[in-house]
Parts: sequence; C-alpha cells; structure tokens
Amino acid sequence: VTHLSLSLSIDSDGLQVVGRWDGLVLARGEVLGEIRMFIAGAPCVALEADEFAARDERGPLPLREATTEGEGEPVRRWTVERATKGRIVVSYLATAVTEWLPSPHPPLELRREADGFSGAFKCFLVLPPGVEEASFELTWESASDAADTAGPVAVCSLGQAGGSQSAVSGVGLDVLTHTYVMCSTDPVAHHAVGDISTWWLTAPPFDVKPFTQQLSDTYREMAATFDAAPHPFRVFLRASPHRGMSASAHPASFVVAMDPTTPADERVLQRTVAHELVHEWLHLDGPTDSVTWFNEGAADYYALVVSLRRGVIDDQTFLSEVNTAARLGYASPFHGLTLVEAERLYWSDFRAHRLPYVRGMFYLADLDARLRQHKEQHTLDQGVRQVLSKQRAGMHVGLAEWCAIIDDLLGEDERAKIGRFVFNPGGRPRQGTFGSRFIIHDTEVPIVDPGFAADTFPARQVHGLVPGGPADRAGLTQGETVQLPTYEEAANLNVGDELIAEVWRDGRLVPLAIPLGGRSIVVPQWRLSGD
Ligand SMILES: [Zn+2]
Repeated sequence: VTHLSLSLSIDSDGLQVVGRWDGLVLARGEVLGEIRMFIAGAPCVALEADEFAARDERGPLPLREATTEGEGEPVRRWTVERATKGRIVVSYLATAVTEWLPSPHPPLELRREADGFSGAFKCFLVLPPGVEEASFELTWESASDAADTAGPVAVCSLGQAGGSQSAVSGVGLDVLTHTYVMCSTDPVAHHAVGDISTWWLTAPPFDVKPFTQQLSDTYREMAATFDAAPHPFRVFLRASPHRGMSASAHPASFVVAMDPTTPADERVLQRTVAHELVHEWLHLDGPTDSVTWFNEGAADYYALVVSLRRGVIDDQTFLSEVNTAARLGYASPFHGLTLVEAERLYWSDFRAHRLPYVRGMFYLADLDARLRQHKEQHTLDQGVRQVLSKQRAGMHVGLAEWCAIIDDLLGEDERAKIGRFVFNPGGRPRQGTFGSRFIIHDTEVPIVDPGFAADTFPARQVHGLVPGGPADRAGLTQGETVQLPTYEEAANLNVGDELIAEVWRDGRLVPLAIPLGGRSIVVPQWRLSGD
C-alpha cells in the first residue's frame, strides 16, 4: 500500500511542494518522478536537474534526470541511482509560469495572480509512474495564522483548507492529478450559494453573486430532474490576456479563464458551466464514437431546458439559443456528413465538432416529444432516470442499454431511429418538440461559407482563403487581421444578408461586405405558438 502525504506552501515565485512517500520502494534505476513538458498546450513546471531533491532513511538520494522525446509530448524523468529504504521525501519549488503563449490553451498551468497561485496538479506535481492506486493526503502550510480565521487560504476541486479544515484526502493519483488548486496568502475571494461556489484571485469582469445564484438554482433543478444527490461543485475564475474564454473540467469543478478587462458574456458563461453540471451526473458508458453525441447532446439539452424550467432564462433567450443551435447543426457546411465523416474533421474545424452536440440535443428533444405523444405520456426525464439508477446499481449503460430502455417505453426500434437521426444526416425534430408552447416553422437560411477557414472567426486572422471565393472577391487577403462577428452571430444571418468584416488599411478601419456563399437550406426554427 502506497500513501502520499503532500504539503504545499506559498513562496514568492511559486509553490513549495513536499511529498512524503510511504510504501514506495524503488530499485536502482527506477523512476522516482516524472512530469510532462506540456499538457494540451499548457506548459508544466520547468524544473532544472538540481531543483528536484529527494531523500530517504539513508540520506540524500542521488538522482539522474533525463528528458524523453517519445511519440507524444516530451516527459522529464528522475531515476534513483541507488535502491531506496524507508520513507522517501521529495521537495522542490514549483515555479509559476510567467510568459503567455500567443494562442489560448486550457487554463491548466501554475500561474500567479495577485497574492496567490492557481493551476492543475498535473502541470506541477512530479509523481512516480505505476502507483495510480496510492492514497493521498493534501495539506497546506499557511503562511499566516490570521488568514485561517478569515476564510480558506487554499481551495481545490476536492475541498478547501483554512478555517476549520486543513487537509483533503482521497484515493487514486488520477483524481489528485486532475485536481485544480487555488491558494493565496490572504483568504481566497469567493461566493457560495448552496453547493455551488465561485472562486477568484483577480476580480472578475461580471457580477459573481447573481451568476452563482442562477447556477445554484439550475443545479438544484437538475438534481431534482435526475433524482440525484447534489454535491459541492466549484467554479474557478482566472485571469488571462486572451480574448474570449478558455476552460477546463476537473473533478466536481470547472475552471474558466477570461480577460478581466473586457466585459464577459455572462449568458455564455452560464450556459457553459450548466453544460458541465449535466456531465456531473448524466452520461452513457462506452467508446467515444458510440456515446459522445449522447453525452454532449444531453449536456446541451438539459443545460438549456432546465434553465428554462427553473426560470433562469426566459422564453426569448431559450428560443434564440435553440434556433441558433438548429442553424449551427442543420445549416452547417458539414450538415450532410455522417458522424464518422465529421469526426475526422473534429480537430481541424470546430463546425464539424459541433455536429454531434447539435444532433444529440435535437434527437433528445425530438425523443421527448415522441415519448409525450405516446398514449402513456412518458417523458425523456423518465428514460434518463432509468440510466442513472442502473448506473448507481453498478450496471454498465451504453448505447444498447439506452435503446432497450426507450424500446421498452415506446415499443419501437430505437437503434434505427438513432441511426437516421444522429449518425446520419436525415433527422429533423417533429412538431411538438420542446412542448406545445413552441411551434416549428421551416425557414430558409444561408449556409455560412464565406470562403475562408472557420478558425478565421476566433483567430481574427484570415486563414485558408479560397481563391475566387466570396471573401477573396470582397478583397480580403490571406494572413490579414480582420474584425468579424462571432461564428454564432454569422450563423444567425438570413438569406440576402452579408457578413460585415473590418480590416485596417492605411491606418483606418475599412468595412468589407462578404456575401455568405450563395447556398441556402431549410432548417427548423421555433417560435412561441401565440406569436
Ligand atoms: Zn461537454
């Protein structure tokens, strides 16, 4: 049995890390610790050879450091140059990253903000391989006793320290490495409503109180919908110089990085975290190519529907988001692809990546309508609660089990329905989807294809300009910096509209009108039935 007692304290340039290993016995040449150089583009701590020290019962442990350039990203490893005896103590200063990379990546690396630091353990914890089952205890050495009485000086995905609590413990290094940590010499600023709490080191660019209140309301409604027990969930906010938001999911927590000097789009933030809250409970088990559409579609569906049910959003906001989703899916330049075909494009084009989300969401919305229109008037919530109760009983619930649950309620062949609706491009939501208050009217909308690569929208620099295409003919040039509406705004344009871009020419901002490509398609759009 291996146990790690980990203690952290704040230093001027980063976090002092001391790890005490019990039950870890290494032969000469075995690996005492390793850490990747980058994770998903986020830089990990750059320890020099002599900055990582270890000792055991016999005294200092001689170490050899090496960086391996394997298949994936490089890994830095320390091996012991003699056999170990008894408890091993490793210590090092995890220096915070100070420089910013030009493009955003998930907010994982250890960074300083105000009088504190935040980051994910996987970016600054040096751990031995092969002891994934180890138990751990995490403590903070508080610099100031006064801070303890005023509130937590450290908080992580698993709990908080300061005040009455000083340690967090658990089993499995996988949980520990995915944990996100935020700490400060003063108590960490936060706002809590019920099980939901929001934490920050730099004052965020929006009002945290109503944000947390609405999220807490949504969370409670979800717990009731899924007939599941709520548990504490933390939202960490951190400052980043990049435009827009970048985010990462951690155990029972979520980190959002945003520029504190630009106004935040609170609705996008709400929707994003609500999506993550659904993931806390609802998923199908199985390989990603068989269940990702369900897991992401269900997260989008319930984030929206529960927010409406609870009154966190009004009918108009609901309609605008449903209608945008329908356009993003059914009027995408990739609308005709199968999911297998779209999957090959996931990492090169975000429009392809949206397809499983949108098809999954509208499949579930349509299924809810089918269940309600059935003579026994079932609901989607009933089917979903069966998934969760089977999983709580330890059962595997994958796509086949989902189909069996729905077959049982409807007496139809659900597998074939999913094939047509999700894996292939044929499905369209029926009248009655989202309830009788809303009606579908088919609308012809443009397929947004302005003749440049989709990442031109977020990057604001022209990529993949198609010679002779609409953007080229409008006068845009490859590599040029350009102001554009967001892709969602572009997807909401109508037939005959043009995309208005602005480029700097001779010291002034010149507007250019780009036709949308000329193709159009009929998509479902919803409105209130009385309107
Ligand atoms: Zn998701």
